[in-house]
Amino acid sequence: MMQEPVRPLERGASERIKDFEEVVFKYSEEEALREANRCLQCKDPLCIKGCPVGIDIKKFIRHIREKDYRGAYFEIRKKNNFPSICGRVCPAEYQCRKTCVLNSQGAPFASEKSINIHFLERFAGDYAMLNNLSSGIPETRPGSKSFKVAVVGSGPAGLSVAGELAREGIKTVVFEALHKAGGVLRYGIPPFRLPGEVLDYEINYLKQMGVEFVLNCIIGKTKSLQDLKKEGFSAFFLGLGAGVPSFLGIKGENLPNVYSANEFLTRVNLMSAYRFPEYHTPVNIAEKVVVVGGGNTAVDAARVALRLQRLRGLKGRVSILYRRTEKEMPARRLEIEHAKEEGIEFKFLVQPEELLADSGNRLEKIKCLRCRLGEPDSSGRRRPVVIENSAFSIECGLAIIAIGLGANRVLTSSEPALETNRRGEITIKDNFLQSSLRGVFAGGDIVGGEGTVIEAMSMGKTAAAGITRFLKSGSLPF
Ligand code: SF4
Repeated sequence: MMQEPVRPLERGASERIKDFEEVVFKYSEEEALREANRCLQCKDPLCIKGCPVGIDIKKFIRHIREKDYRGAYFEIRKKNNFPSICGRVCPAEYQCRKTCVLNSQGAPFASEKSINIHFLERFAGDYAMLNNLSSGIPETRPGSKSFKVAVVGSGPAGLSVAGELAREGIKTVVFEALHKAGGVLRYGIPPFRLPGEVLDYEINYLKQMGVEFVLNCIIGKTKSLQDLKKEGFSAFFLGLGAGVPSFLGIKGENLPNVYSANEFLTRVNLMSAYRFPEYHTPVNIAEKVVVVGGGNTAVDAARVALRLQRLRGLKGRVSILYRRTEKEMPARRLEIEHAKEEGIEFKFLVQPEELLADSGNRLEKIKCLRCRLGEPDSSGRRRPVVIENSAFSIECGLAIIAIGLGANRVLTSSEPALETNRRGEITIKDNFLQSSLRGVFAGGDIVGGEGTVIEAMSMGKTAAAGITRFLKSGSLPF
């Protein structure tokens, strides 16, 4: 008889909304073994086809079944440098779990029945952290010390490149504009989904592999690519991310208490504003908060806002407005489920029209229009169509706009020979993600990636292979 799926324990919703501690516990050993034993060890493991970096999922699960947790960890690391991160934030329900043979093939996302591959990956990653398996790094090969590679940006793509190059023994220096490494993993994902210590562990692992990190250094301002070339760097990777928030372009967006999700989350996640005044960065909150958007960023911002309300003794509500229905929401199913449990309200088929202020110029409400779903657009999702004469308003003291991010042009505008498209994204010229500048590779959101951590990491692996090939060819950069 088929065993029931094993879900790890979670902190209760009423308890967890009072702090920023992690929501989902890791599997106990007994839970991990039970879940691993549900895996059919398929002859043709479809799950692997769903993993963007091609982890041998069947094999790492087999190691867990055999209680060889070290083996499981290093099996994952052959393809993915960050098991503890991906085990927490990968949208597995749209990837490996969706293609798992236990899921109904063709379903839009994984059902409960599918193996909880991500929780098993986290179990192996956390086992490595608890047992400090990073000491003695078994996988770094002696490489050519004559090459030096500059990685610009320490988000998932940059970290992935650094890990792959370090594995080849190539000296790699990561330049980060902020005062802490991690990019969007640090400033974008709240600690209740990805604790800072987990990120620190994975970054320290890279340091032990020989990767150097230079913080507070904006390439394109503090130094140019030309400066780095003069310093002896032989190849470059640009993992600049997408740090410029998009806005709705409607009246009232400049009112006080209208944040971009990027700013709101950065204040809280990176600058610890939830611990103000112990930490010096403040963040505003209100009794009625509205978040606009349907991705993970919108759900994260809403859950952060709810926690801030509770920490400050406010009993208010947080609502998410989305133009389509729940089915079209790009956010992870697990996060939507958690948000609902915590009391976040979802208002579907609603489009903001105007942000309105009271007589004191304080944000007071959002005028909205109702929508219905029309024909599919280029993304394949059904387009929202505004319903005539459907205007209504929602009271709101703080609004967070989470409708996407665009390319940061600080570096690209400082290098005119670096080709970009009209959205400011770097144009890619070959299968190894080389840009228009010889020896300069790019990946992640800055080349228009899908915006998932694992996709950025996958691009990082491809670019690292290209960089290694470029260095071995003896070519010189631009
Ligand atoms: S497809 Fe599912 S059941 Fe089969 S090996 Fe992969 S995880 Fe196990």
